[in-house]
Amino acid sequence: MKKPFGRVLGKIGISLAGLALVIAGSAYTPEEGMFPLNYLNITQLKNAGLQLDAEDIFSPGKISLTDALVNVGGCTGSFISEEGLIITNHHCVYGNVARLSTEKNNYLENGFVALDKSQELPVSMPCKITQSYEDVSEEVLKGTSETNTPSERISLIGKNIQEILKKERSLYPELTIEISEMFIGKSYTLFRYIYLKDVRLVMAPPLTVGQFGGDTDNWEWPRHNGDFSLVRAYVGKDGKPAAYSKDNIPYTPKKTLKINPKGTQENDFVFIMGYPGRTYRHESGSYLQFQQEIQLPTIQSFYKTYIDWMKELSEGNTAKRLKFAGTIQGMENVEKNYRGKIQGLRRTDVVKARQNQDAALKTVYKTGTPQGIQATKVVKRIEALWEIRQKYGKAHFYSNVFTRQSKALQMAELCLETNALLEASPKNKKDSIIIKFQKNAKKLYPFVDEELERRAFTTIINGIYNHAKDVNPNVKIGNAFSPKSLQEISSSHFFDNQKMMDLIEKKPAKLLSSINKEIVTKIVLDLEPIRMNILNVWKETELELAALMPQYMGFREDYLQSQFIPDANSTLRLTYGFIKSYKPNDGEVHYPYTSLEGVFEKANTLPDYRLPELVQDKLRQKEVPAIFKDPKTGKVVVGILYNMDTTGGNSGSPVLNARGELIGLNFDRSFTATINDYAWNEDYSRSIGCDIRYVLYVLKYVSNADKIIEEMGLNL
Ligand code: ASP
Repeated sequence: MKKPFGRVLGKIGISLAGLALVIAGSAYTPEEGMFPLNYLNITQLKNAGLQLDAEDIFSPGKISLTDALVNVGGCTGSFISEEGLIITNHHCVYGNVARLSTEKNNYLENGFVALDKSQELPVSMPCKITQSYEDVSEEVLKGTSETNTPSERISLIGKNIQEILKKERSLYPELTIEISEMFIGKSYTLFRYIYLKDVRLVMAPPLTVGQFGGDTDNWEWPRHNGDFSLVRAYVGKDGKPAAYSKDNIPYTPKKTLKINPKGTQENDFVFIMGYPGRTYRHESGSYLQFQQEIQLPTIQSFYKTYIDWMKELSEGNTAKRLKFAGTIQGMENVEKNYRGKIQGLRRTDVVKARQNQDAALKTVYKTGTPQGIQATKVVKRIEALWEIRQKYGKAHFYSNVFTRQSKALQMAELCLETNALLEASPKNKKDSIIIKFQKNAKKLYPFVDEELERRAFTTIINGIYNHAKDVNPNVKIGNAFSPKSLQEISSSHFFDNQKMMDLIEKKPAKLLSSINKEIVTKIVLDLEPIRMNILNVWKETELELAALMPQYMGFREDYLQSQFIPDANSTLRLTYGFIKSYKPNDGEVHYPYTSLEGVFEKANTLPDYRLPELVQDKLRQKEVPAIFKDPKTGKVVVGILYNMDTTGGNSGSPVLNARGELIGLNFDRSFTATINDYAWNEDYSRSIGCDIRYVLYVLKYVSNADKIIEEMGLNL
């Protein structure tokens, strides 16, 4: 059953989100919300300025805007030609372009344009296109009220989901079926997708255009980069999704977006459709406190250290820098985002306000009523669980999250697991176990940089040990782990690429049999009981929280008299608002447009504003045709700012005008909007896009890609 259109508006909903029509400015204040399509209130959207009907956005069995939207490798993209051409962000293809680049053919630095389809290069960015969706909460939750423990509940939910998926997959073998949790433990939607695997790079601007401003400008306004790129989706000759093959043909989308190069003015209505990744707007005050005090600072500082190492160790070595490029870019993006969130949480009352609401939930119902007793119990238990997590938090990050950052640690675990498997398996199975081990070990070696891995391993191991003391000051560990043994790491062959690759290739059995004598493994084994304890506590609290959250949210909705919008979860959403200036800090007003003039003003003042003469010359056109210029100011608009509610995953989303025409490409948020993930607010939440005219300008003058412009249906 689908949720009704529109939502019940409550007192807090109205006062917080400012839903009322602002009569004085005749401007309609946008709502917080990345709306699932079945939550759209079309009347409200039309009042705000939309000139489309509901079925133009999504209509089962009919062609609509939804058919032009793709989730492309975790970002959003949209079809802009009948031959499967997709526009998305440069930062979304960045890792792939880095991987395809060499010192000689450095596409990342110089940009890339395929002159014809035979020159397009395969990238690992699968595409998903939403076909239909359905609420399956009832089936997913079937029988859960009879379960006795959180883990029974979760496993029943898992089982129910598998059954539904099995049924659906047999009904729609050509589609990809996913069930997404819309509210933790409470509501679930089944999505049917077309899934295209063969995707190829068509065009990427030079780094100095696509990422102009680098980390200095990332998460900031004003912005002056052309963060866009083009890829193309392919299918098999029969028109069906297929793995890469040179015989594949371009995918014909059901719908393509119309490009409108006429630009916008401040206060124009705009909307975005896309696949926003993750938000946490319905969590408790104690969760937010954990974010502010533990999660964000711990990850931010580890990432900062790791980024500095990568930069230091690849200094002056282009090949190595290209290998690290994707990781550096991804980590810098998160690191700065987390800094923004920490600042945002400190300077707003988001945490305190949620804690106050939680306190109110304990007293809002009449004392002694079943509801009152239960609400108090639920809130108190959630607080207690987060108190435990607050204590275990840092130890958990080192024991789990950061493990992914140490290949040596992963290798030690792989060896130990393989040994355990070998011991438990009959003789005739051993060879295949060793072959599998070789295959997995080869994914870890060679390390891009041996010293980087040594530092990462040592830091993570120290982190687990030191923070295990937060939980238990008398924590005891075995003999292997000691400051002295950490010195031995410097000579361990775990960090010797050549030696390890030889052993994996030629003597895997010997490597495995001697593994317990290796210092890296000895340390990992010593810390194992401590790590396991930390991970178990984490898992148990996770299960209990998952079981409590539906009740908690129910009480909050009831208290706020509001029907919540599900948090972003990488499913298709729509958000709307206006091109809008704002005041991020005392005494600062930010105008919602930037122009090419700003690019030249910034050029070469800082390393991140590096702009080689060649690129600068191409950007400096003597005669710029009127179509590229804003009719009011006569400037080439580069960046646009708007008050829409977006998050990661909305990268590459089309910014659409009232008629659903493409006027820009979303790629970022302002620093103050990084806390959108916890709380959206019209005062500080602004998202950032690249004007479509700048995309066309770069295509024409920097990349000389007239053929692509033609394919987009334009003649410039
Ligand atoms: N630039 C952002 C990202 O990388 C997009 C956003 O989060 O607003 O995810």
